[in-house]
Amino acid sequence: MNAQAVRLKEDYFIGMISSNLFDNPFISKGLQIKFLLPRFIAPFLTILLCCACVGQAQPAQGSSEGEIIIDMHCHAAGLGYGGSGCFVSDKLRKSFKIGFYLRGYGVTKKLLEEHGDGLIIQKTSEQLRASRYVTSAIVLAMDGVIGPDGSLDRKNTEIYVPNEFVLQETAKYDNLYFGASVNPYRPDAIERLKQAVLEGALLIKWIPSIMQIDPADERIIPFYREMSAHNIPLLTHAGNERSFTMAANELSDPKRLELPLRLGVTVIAAHAAATGKNDGEDNMERLIGLMESYPNLYTDISSLTQINKLGYLSRLLRHKNILDHLLYGADYPLIETCICSPWVHVADLTIKQIFYIQGIRNPWDRDIELKKALGVPWNVFTRSKRLFRPEKRPRIAFSWCHK
Ligand SMILES: [Zn+2]
Repeated sequence: MNAQAVRLKEDYFIGMISSNLFDNPFISKGLQIKFLLPRFIAPFLTILLCCACVGQAQPAQGSSEGEIIIDMHCHAAGLGYGGSGCFVSDKLRKSFKIGFYLRGYGVTKKLLEEHGDGLIIQKTSEQLRASRYVTSAIVLAMDGVIGPDGSLDRKNTEIYVPNEFVLQETAKYDNLYFGASVNPYRPDAIERLKQAVLEGALLIKWIPSIMQIDPADERIIPFYREMSAHNIPLLTHAGNERSFTMAANELSDPKRLELPLRLGVTVIAAHAAATGKNDGEDNMERLIGLMESYPNLYTDISSLTQINKLGYLSRLLRHKNILDHLLYGADYPLIETCICSPWVHVADLTIKQIFYIQGIRNPWDRDIELKKALGVPWNVFTRSKRLFRPEKRPRIAFSWCHK
């Protein structure tokens, strides 16, 4: 199957689950009746009926409340309201995906218009505070594409979430940390990096495929040296990217991370590089090969319960030698959408487990219970505190941000 066909198949899947099944333009009426009814809907209703007879499942045993769990992969977003400086491309604004994400945050465009983009950060903090397991989250800024003249290329930037916005908003809540984003092609990238360190950023976030960054580009070496000197980790997307309307996926090849790894940067390849291939080799296998060679390489388990990444989590967990380099990330707000439903894992969970997990209201608690049930060892959830050491970083007060 060629790349376009894979993309169409994935888009079809997301389209199917994120809109009303019978309104989906990909599916003809005949197909709805002949194909979907016997294969999906009837078995689903049968299972549902059986489960109603089984009764309400009990909570999983062995929870470890009281430990510090940091979600190190939590997204921020905005449409520019309240002077946030955030924006998304026209294409993304018109796509169904934006409404899908806003619903995940529990906001609407109208609410953002009224209260400003800061409402997204406020909702994130509130949801997190209600979590039984997750103590805090690193909220990620997102720099844009940098053009040949060294300025922000707004036309080719899919999503922009400035450091200033994330810093200012996270400073209001004691359960949120600042995750900065600096495109290394900015002429003042090193100054921005130093500034982010001073402001208490716990990491630098990139999505190379949409920010048009080549991690293997030797022009970035001074930036990597500065990161290494400050011991600030790089969280960088690896594997194919499907959350946006365009992506140069070859830039998210895990093998391109060898340059920062050799320079001593702590690198976290997001999503275990799930999905996609480079040089004919599966991205996740390429990443695992590197993890066996570089002790400063980590990966996170965010997004691995999504419907378009079925099977990747169990494959990853089979590699026992890298388990102590896995980190817990949720990829919020996607955990609050139907693409992460426990029903997606019907082949790996009992009906009792599915009903229990489905019944959990808090998105982080649901995510933790789902990942626990799928075999993620407990110390993966608690590892971030030791890696990021937030107590060692300066904590910028809200009042300082408003000076
Ligand atoms: Zn993400």
